[in-house]
Amino acid sequence: MATAASADVICIGGGLSGLTCAARAAELGLRVIVAERGEAADYPCNSRYSAGVFHASYQDVTLPTADLDAAMQRAMSGYADMRMLDVISQDAKRALEWLRAQGGKFVRGPQRSWVMAPPRGMSTGLDWKGRGPDALLRALTQRITERQGRILLGTQASGLESSGGRVTAVNAIQNGQKVRLEAPAIVIADGGFQANTDLMRQHIGPHPERVFQRNAGTSHGDGLSMAIEIGAAHTDLNRFYGHLLSRDVFNNSELWPFPQIDAVAAAGLLVDPRGQRLFDEGLGGIFLSNEIAAMDDPLSTTVIFDAQIWEVGGREHQVPPNPLLEKHGGTLFRANTIEELASLAGIDPQALAKTVSDYNRAVDSGDLTSLSPVRTAPKAKAQPIRHLPLMAIPVCAGITNTMGGVKIDEHARVLDKTGAPIRGLYAAGAAIGGLDGGANVGYVGGLIKSVFGLRAAEHIAQHR
Ligand SMILES: Cc1cc2nc3c(=O)[nH]c(=O)nc-3n(C[C@H](O)[C@H](O)[C@H](O)COP(=O)(O)OP(=O)(O)OC[C@H]3O[C@@H](n4cnc5c(N)ncnc54)[C@H](O)[C@@H]3O)c2cc1C
Repeated sequence: MATAASADVICIGGGLSGLTCAARAAELGLRVIVAERGEAADYPCNSRYSAGVFHASYQDVTLPTADLDAAMQRAMSGYADMRMLDVISQDAKRALEWLRAQGGKFVRGPQRSWVMAPPRGMSTGLDWKGRGPDALLRALTQRITERQGRILLGTQASGLESSGGRVTAVNAIQNGQKVRLEAPAIVIADGGFQANTDLMRQHIGPHPERVFQRNAGTSHGDGLSMAIEIGAAHTDLNRFYGHLLSRDVFNNSELWPFPQIDAVAAAGLLVDPRGQRLFDEGLGGIFLSNEIAAMDDPLSTTVIFDAQIWEVGGREHQVPPNPLLEKHGGTLFRANTIEELASLAGIDPQALAKTVSDYNRAVDSGDLTSLSPVRTAPKAKAQPIRHLPLMAIPVCAGITNTMGGVKIDEHARVLDKTGAPIRGLYAAGAAIGGLDGGANVGYVGGLIKSVFGLRAAEHIAQHR
């Protein structure tokens, strides 16, 4: 195959991580190419669809390094690779400042976070055009082209070539033709594997078609597969970032990406059609989404709560389910008895009545340890379910992006199974593992993983 183009660095994927890496590498004087499978100038990707909150475990990225590190460690319950957390706590503020210097605009958001401006309307449905994340990707694209870098749209990377233990080229399909792109440094930034049904079935749950794709549908794990093929190591691949959504979302596009049902579930109960609790609701919506996605029938769970939870947890988010769920056609059952509610929601009435009564007794006594499965309260305090009307929402798991991925070091170099860097191969963004995940599904954040794009560019420039 003839070589179509060559550069000092090729980034696979033009989301925030790929464009950050390319713009920084070009700033450092390297010749860069971004190979992006999307065809239009405003190609879809998760970065463009995102709410644009630039956070690290929901903390302000300008916090002192030690405070940020401690907060992330708490959120990750010992799961994350400490070296990787250190990179984020050391570079998060610098990344924010660098993105600003490239033309990105940020304003203060909820909990003193930084949000890409102009902020998303934060409504139901997708409203990304012209909003902060879209504007930032356009600004980075402009910086890359001003610095003589090239963005090859309609170019889907499909394989890596290596020689003498060093990566040398990317094979890709460009407008239906096979092409070869040559560079001594290649950065995988293709956003994870959530849109790949086979990989989802293998790692996330047996029925991926019953898990809602709460994302741009553009990341198929190509980078992960290519890296594994040439000997790269990967982390656990069984966890993802996502949220609980109304089950109606499969037929109603106004019910995603928001409202999420997370806070309501975390204050109340999640049950199956037998009226049984299944998981520790107190661990929150990201955890519950993961557990639901792994079930034999991920479309079989219902959140049970009451009028008081609906008024508090139901209104907590910027795009709250109360009142937006019903306003946009989502199902919310109301009843004056648990048995009546159960019948409306297709749940065994007697069993649900017992589950709710056991739960209320435990909440009233202040001792939740008698409940099985155990109920903790890191994300929300368990609330009794008795204020009329009693309510139920049939839910599903929505996957935003996978958490596991290729193993890298603090310079974003992809590691092989012995822990040694594969020369010339780097990764950043949602394609990497080692940060989020674990038993309680800790979350560091999505956009923040673009710091590894900066790290990759700087290491490549230094070792050119
Ligand atoms: C609705 C929504 C809201 C979110 N809100 C937030 C938020 O507020 N804060 C936050 O931190 N995170 C948020 N996230 C998560 C965050 O958007 C992602 O984690 C992050 O954008 C990942 O960036 P990335 O550059 O790794 O991947 P992406 O932005 O997904 O980019 C990957 C790119 O690679 C391209 N690609 C894929 N395969 C190939 C291939 N073989 N060859 C060439 N190109 C390829 C894709 O087309 C895509 O353009 C949100 C996500 C969604 C969907």
